[in-house]
Amino acid sequence: MDLNRIPGNEGFRRINFLFQAAIEIFNRSPKIAQLYIKDMRLIAEKLVLRLDPSLKREFCKKCSYLLTHLPKQTQCLGSRLYATTVCPSCKYIKKIKIN
Ligand SMILES: [Zn+2]
Repeated sequence: MDLNRIPGNEGFRRINFLFQAAIEIFNRSPKIAQLYIKDMRLIAEKLVLRLDPSLKREFCKKCSYLLTHLPKQTQCLGSRLYATTVCPSCKYIKKIKIN
């Protein structure tokens, strides 16, 4: 199967490149990493591609700040368990369902 003929493949390559570049540059400049993630989301929006859920968990949905390096806390809200991370840039609390 020719990988170049898969629809949206070029877009996924650019998304993957930008995400890896953001992780690489984060320690030197978090602002540039944030710009890369914003570009990545824009490409996905323009080409109508869905980002993988595992990828979406790695950044803040309000300001695109990279959250990979931050510790996650487990919290019980109602009857469900969540892993929560507070975004240092916009103070948004990201909740990920565990069970
Ligand atoms: Zn944020």
